Order: sequence, then structure tokens, then C-alpha cells
Amino acid sequence: MRDHRLHATASMAESFYRIFVNRRAYTLQSTRPHPDTGRHYYYRLKARGGEAPPALGLETVQQHLAGELTLGIYAINPHTQRSKWVAIDADYKNALVDLVNLQHELQQDGVEPALEKSNRGGHLWIFFEQPALARDCRVYIYHTALRLGLPIKGAGLPEGLEIFPRQDELGEGEFGNAIRAPLGVHRGARESRGWRFWFYGADYTLGDQLAYLCRVQKVSAALLAGYIAGKTLPDEFVQHAKRPEAPKHYFSSPAKEFRILDYVHVERQVGRNWIGRCPSCAAANRDRSGDNLAISVEAPRKYICWAGCTKEMIRIAVGRPIQEKRYEL
Ligand SMILES: [Zn+2]
Repeated sequence: MRDHRLHATASMAESFYRIFVNRRAYTLQSTRPHPDTGRHYYYRLKARGGEAPPALGLETVQQHLAGELTLGIYAINPHTQRSKWVAIDADYKNALVDLVNLQHELQQDGVEPALEKSNRGGHLWIFFEQPALARDCRVYIYHTALRLGLPIKGAGLPEGLEIFPRQDELGEGEFGNAIRAPLGVHRGARESRGWRFWFYGADYTLGDQLAYLCRVQKVSAALLAGYIAGKTLPDEFVQHAKRPEAPKHYFSSPAKEFRILDYVHVERQVGRNWIGRCPSCAAANRDRSGDNLAISVEAPRKYICWAGCTKEMIRIAVGRPIQEKRYEL
């Protein structure tokens, strides 16, 4: 069995913290795969017994770098609505080609993005000298990607680039979306023991990678202001930006209970519902726009197909038919 642990020092953790950490809330990737889906989900640690949830410290970052746990980090500091970085996640067929094109385009602007490998594609990171407003980061990247004709997830496209920060700003008590923190072990990848993904710009050691990230040129506030002057976020992406990370009650239900969210890829939130493709419709090759199924955000046990599929049909379509109740005689 492979062991992905590496030696990580306190000063490496400090560099990482300075570059990537926007706020002290964080998520952890589960070390064990979900029994139904085989996926390693991320979860946020909950407050216990009246205490505040644990805040991200250097020790935890050091464990992440060492490969003992895997962090997810948030893009927005809720007090300032700012981020130290933009990350563009591309995970689809030929995603890497799109990312390299985007990297090239950004370089023409005088930006020096860092490209991190991932499963099928990668993450392109852009760093700022001073934390930048999430809204401004997003305007810049959306316009650059659209100028190149690159697919952006949301607004009807199920696959495409995902841009972090995913929200323009956070409301009270919100966290927005977390992204897998770089340089750690990705537990879902390749083999059950996990896998590390590196940045292309440096040798594949923690020290070389962090030194590279420290010296990568950061975008100044003046440059960013120049790029986005007179621009706003395209209308079709504004609603998408409101989609929170994951349904609030997802992890509170027992693992063996049927959870529709394990089987439906949620594309967006409309009002009080998550919207996705109905599995029963999909089995009949219908609902190609992926918006027939509505799942209650507050109570994800409740869902309905607007085309009229019954709960029984949907359960059969996902391979988890409803068991008839057995009565004791
Ligand atoms: Zn249906």
C-alpha cells in the first residue's frame, strides 16, 4: 500500500497559511468513502456543547501538508468579502486544454497564474497582493473566460469551469464554497489511499512547491481595477452565484437512509429548492435541461418531479426501490 505522508515543517505551514487561508472555518475530506457512493465527501466541523467549531490553525495546516488529513478551504473572508486568490476548477474531458488557454490569456494581461494538476483537469490559481473583493475577482475571470469562448458551469451548462469564489459576497452566517486545499492528499483519487496533485511550476516537493507559490507574481489592486473597469458579472451567472456549497442537512441524516442528493447532481438553487435532472426522466432520456427535479433545501427528504414521475419511479431509477413495509404477524 502506498503511503502519501511527507515531512512538513511549521514554516511550510506558515507559508501555506499566508498564501491560501482566507478565514478560519474549514472543511475536512472524509478518510472513509461513503458506503453508498464510494465518494469521499468534505464536511465542516460542527460546534460541540456550546463551544465554537475549531478554527483553522497552523498545526492543522501542517497535518494537511504532511498528508495526515485533507483540508478544504473557503474563498471568502466574511468580514471583508475578500479573497487572497481566485481558483478556476476544471474537471471534464479536455479540461486541461481550456485551462492552458485561459492561463495563456491571463499571461497576456501580465498575470502569472499557477496551474495545479487534478483528476481530469486542474485548478488554475491567481493570487492577489492584497485580498480582493470576491465580486471583482469573479467579474475579471468570467469576462476573460467568456472572451475565450470557454464553457462556464451553470447558466445551463452542466460541465465547464467553476470559478472560486463562487459567490459575490456572503450573507450573515454563510460560508460559500470550499475548494480542496492544494499540496495535500486527495482521498478520492486513483486509489483508495489517495493521491497528491502538484503545481506544474516547480519540482514535486513541498519545499519547492511552496517557494514557487511565494514567488509567483501577485496581481495588484490597481491592475485588477483596470481589468474590470466598466464591467459587471454577466446576468446569466448571477443566480448561479447564490448556490450554497451543499444542502445544510445533508450530513445530519444517517448514512443508510435513502438520500436523493446522493443520486442527483444539483445544478442550481431556485427559491427554496435545489434543481437537478430527474433520474426517472433521465432513464427515459428526458429532462435534458436537467431541471425537472426539485429538492427542498430545508428538508432534502422532500422532492418532486415536475413531469409527474412518482417517488416509486424515481427510487427504481436510482436502483433503490422503496421496500414495502413488513408487518409483524
Ligand atoms: Zn421525472
